[in-house]
Amino acid sequence: MSRTVIRGARYPGDIAFEDGVITEIGSIDRKDGDLEIRYNDAIVTPGLINTHHHLYQWMTRGVATGCNLFDWLQTLYPVWKKMSVDDVHSAALVGLGELALSGCTTAFDHHYVVPDGDDSVFDAIVDAAKLVGIRIFLSRGSMDLGEADGGLPPDNLIEERDSILTSTERIISAHHDGDMVSVVVAPCSPFSVTEGLMTESADLARKHGLRLHTHLCETIDEQEHCIERFGKRPAEQLSDWGWTGDDVWFAHGIHFSETEIALLGKEGTGVAHCPSSNARLAAGMCPVSDLLHANVPVGLGVDGVASNEVGGLFPELRQALYTARLREMRPDALMPKDVLNLGTSGGAQCLGASKSGKLAVGFNADFAVWSTPDLAGVQDPISGLILGPDRKVLDLFVGGKQVAKDGELLGLSLADAHRTLSKRSARLWDHN
Ligand SMILES: [Zn+2]
Repeated sequence: MSRTVIRGARYPGDIAFEDGVITEIGSIDRKDGDLEIRYNDAIVTPGLINTHHHLYQWMTRGVATGCNLFDWLQTLYPVWKKMSVDDVHSAALVGLGELALSGCTTAFDHHYVVPDGDDSVFDAIVDAAKLVGIRIFLSRGSMDLGEADGGLPPDNLIEERDSILTSTERIISAHHDGDMVSVVVAPCSPFSVTEGLMTESADLARKHGLRLHTHLCETIDEQEHCIERFGKRPAEQLSDWGWTGDDVWFAHGIHFSETEIALLGKEGTGVAHCPSSNARLAAGMCPVSDLLHANVPVGLGVDGVASNEVGGLFPELRQALYTARLREMRPDALMPKDVLNLGTSGGAQCLGASKSGKLAVGFNADFAVWSTPDLAGVQDPISGLILGPDRKVLDLFVGGKQVAKDGELLGLSLADAHRTLSKRSARLWDHN
């Protein structure tokens, strides 16, 4: 197969790739047989990496908009219980399509709602990712602690621990290839799972060399729940269960103590920072600078669109920058290049995606091409891109394969996917 060379981008220069891998960057000589793609007024960045999402929540936007996390969850659990496998497939198409057009080439989906234990929902999410064409980190999420036993979710929405673990084994053998599909073991949160599920999930993931993920330190309510139930703070408790190490990353990580931050840094345990969702739910502000200072890997996440409402990763870059500056009241708390690193190489570190997140020789040819004629006079194009207006990609490449062209997905009509999803979503609110 001949190599492809992208020329004319204002940043970072020419890029050559072959067999899905970047082979040269800079000023590249022509070779016979090259396929050439030429851009004017464009910037190329590494593909963005989304480290926390719930794709199914595209069906339930605009609900409980004035609630904190626990009230919001208790409003939505009964609605999510009604979602079919086809509903989730439809939501995943829209969610992944919107992510791709926001520059995302790798997405993590934390799916933990499995009504009646029908785990074909995970097959449906993988199918949607293949149609859109981006890499997916698919979690077999789970909940096994219902209200009757002191958990938050209703008893009719949880599963049995043994069924969860058996299902997780099936999902791994059916889908994990460590390239386009990577499976992650991901019990939902300290207030919706048992100690047994947490420790057995960790054993299962490590047996297969897979990563672990859960929500942690998102709200003060969660912290109080842990102290009441275990007599320990959330991160301390998870450490006792073997849930620290460089194969683990947590969603949110807002309410850590200094000791917990030092522990995460020492262990190499990562954090998915979801600034828009945290703002929408008034959860608090993640101490990103402190985490980075302690060598904690930090990536960015959209979180579910029922608590974010946007669903694109590009706007989270600017939101992360503003959140850090507001929290610290320090104008250089995070700089534009810092947040681009969070959204690319930081995310790759959280996911253990060692060949993604950088424009460098030997890395996956995963990149986003941004049309930026409005930045022609801007001296620092990356600052102009991050701080400027929200935009969607012109083109998107995953493993050297083009999945979006001229602002449109090549694998499906996103407009049609939205129309289908809207009809399905309306049915959830029909009380007849
Ligand atoms: Zn979440």
